[in-house]
Amino acid sequence: MSNAFLQTPVEYLKGVGPQKAEILKAEMGIFSYGDLLTLYPFRYVDRTKFYKINEITPDMPYVQIRGRFTRMKTIGEKRAKRLSAIFKDESGEIELVWFQGIKWMVDKFKGDKEYIVFGKPQLYNGKWNLAHPEVEEVSEANTRLANAWQPVYPSTEKMKLKALDTKGIARLMRPLLTLMHGKIEETLPERVIGKMKLIAREEAVLQIHLPSTPEKLQKVEFRLKFEELFFIQLKLLKLKAHRKEQFKGFVFGVVGEYFNDFYKNHLPFPLTNAQKRVIKEIRQDTGSGKHMNRLLQGDVGSGKTLVALMTMLIAIDNGFQAAIMAPTEILANQHFETISSLLGGMNLRIALLTGSTKTAQRRELHAALLSGEIHILIGTHALIEDIVQFKNLGMVVIDEQHRFGVEQRSRLWKKNLNPPHVLVMTATPIPRTLAMTLYGDLDVSVIDELPPGRKPVRTLHKFDSHRLEVFGFMKEQIKLKRQIYVVYPLIKESETMDYKDLQDGYESISRAFPLPEYKVSILHGQMKTEAKDFEMKRFVKGETNIMVATTVIEVGVNVPNASVMVIESAERFGLSQLHQLRGRVGRGADQSFCILMSSHKLSSDAKLRMNTMVRTSDGFEIADVDLKLRGPGDITGTQQSGILNLKIADLAQDAQILTYARNVAIDLLEEDPDLMKPENKMAAERLAELEKDRTNWSRIS
Ligand code: ADP
Ligand code: MG
Repeated sequence: MSNAFLQTPVEYLKGVGPQKAEILKAEMGIFSYGDLLTLYPFRYVDRTKFYKINEITPDMPYVQIRGRFTRMKTIGEKRAKRLSAIFKDESGEIELVWFQGIKWMVDKFKGDKEYIVFGKPQLYNGKWNLAHPEVEEVSEANTRLANAWQPVYPSTEKMKLKALDTKGIARLMRPLLTLMHGKIEETLPERVIGKMKLIAREEAVLQIHLPSTPEKLQKVEFRLKFEELFFIQLKLLKLKAHRKEQFKGFVFGVVGEYFNDFYKNHLPFPLTNAQKRVIKEIRQDTGSGKHMNRLLQGDVGSGKTLVALMTMLIAIDNGFQAAIMAPTEILANQHFETISSLLGGMNLRIALLTGSTKTAQRRELHAALLSGEIHILIGTHALIEDIVQFKNLGMVVIDEQHRFGVEQRSRLWKKNLNPPHVLVMTATPIPRTLAMTLYGDLDVSVIDELPPGRKPVRTLHKFDSHRLEVFGFMKEQIKLKRQIYVVYPLIKESETMDYKDLQDGYESISRAFPLPEYKVSILHGQMKTEAKDFEMKRFVKGETNIMVATTVIEVGVNVPNASVMVIESAERFGLSQLHQLRGRVGRGADQSFCILMSSHKLSSDAKLRMNTMVRTSDGFEIADVDLKLRGPGDITGTQQSGILNLKIADLAQDAQILTYARNVAIDLLEEDPDLMKPENKMAAERLAELEKDRTNWSRIS
């Protein structure tokens, strides 16, 4: 919010002393009038409605009752002391309880007056009570009732200690809303307002705090959500346009020998149409002289590696080096092996660089990279250390992007004066809304087709009590020469406990699947790299039947003969993780299975997760359910939740508004790319302000 009024320090507001100001800053980041005005209510309570005491039912979040106090007494001693009051209307009685402020309450309420009480009904010993209800005399309440839709504000424990609970905040808000009159400027161009039938900004700000009717509130929310999302989109789209202008990309003018040789002579299977389309998109980008910054989304098993490989070959054909960065060593090793074998006999030098590359080897590698002898470097974050320099890095592929922080990516970026083209590959399906918001400035390619002949994985949910049955099934599958993963959750907070689960699980499986008939591998993050490698290789070669592992195998591992995925304590995994894990099977021609093991006690969210997995294998659908269950912050990692910082829009719910906002922003920029027209002046100013506020977050650079 732009003008001086909105920037007024919050201390200037009546009722905000130094202490409250401090708390508002520390707890909510509220420094100014503008900040306070965007502390939006998260809910409203309808205070027009009154209930009789005998109408109270367990599902009511709040009740409002009109009546009189009959008895009042203090019960218990010291800490256990409480005030119990009996409140009566013509239908019955209810107990009101206070644990604090007892003395004050006793003096305040008079037996001969009529009151309105408001609170959450609770059943205690078979009787209803209200703990710490709001109490008002009927005469006092009349004024308030003029504004019956009462906002409920977010608050924290510390705020509540300084009387900044929802009521306290509402009390501050009222004078501010009066002061605000006539001072809130419009930010959106008139045409947009007309087109989207938006209500004026000042009215929206007023009514979000004091809605007149539910219908009006909808319009108010629409206006504010639209505005919020519109400016995010405007910013991202401008950034994208700007980057394209600013950076010259390396021109990959030819598709040459390596690409063609590979395509004609080494490709192990025909590309899917989706793979072809994406490669074409990438060729167009990299051949145009623009700088490519592309997100490649493709479900697990959709064949992204091959696309990456062919993209790198285009770079090499044009005299550049290429690199691929993976989030784990296992995955880097696997990429190294896959790519080396695919490119075998093509006279290209491919190198692997990870945390466990030995010093002497490293030195040699660094030199070979600088001289340009190495064509393709495959590695983990070791690849972004400053000491790793290339002769001419032209293309970087980042696999399974969600594991990399923005910071890590940016380091890779700095390796060249001229940034290499970047292809970010992710299997975590990001809901469209989130992708539009987080990656709105990237170009997006989607592989929406799995290679032919894949049978959908059959997913079953089994309770722990059916373990023997599951073991029996596993034995049948092993007889058919299939391999099996058994995965245990690993959640940071309780690592030691988790490892115990894993160890116990390993032992019980070893007992149920004894040597020499069965061979069991174990793999977890605390093992030494060589040990991990060793176990992984044994499993890949088919020397062991079962791989007991933590989620280290979640990302990218490719063992086509493994066709059963058993997930232990599946209720402890998030949906996108479950989907990733399931993606480890179903890669060969055999029917594959995913078995979700859980205890009987499941929360409703956990039930929904299990049911979703059983019902669908569509990554985007799963991502949408995930977004609804967890909210956007959790999905993309905590770094981004702060970054999004949405005040009112909700990506899980407001997909439609987001699409409108994006389209309107696109239209606007098409007509006025630099927002120079007078009618867009306010929008340009608002954008500049937002840009000042926030760091660039969604860029690869
Ligand atoms: P992801 O997209 O999950 O990284 P991968 O690149 O690991 O998937 O590919 C999964 C499996 O599919 C690999 O075994 C790969 O060889 C195979 N594959 C990739 N493309 C095709 C294709 N066009 N036809 C058949 N199999 C393919
Ligand atoms: Mg992959």
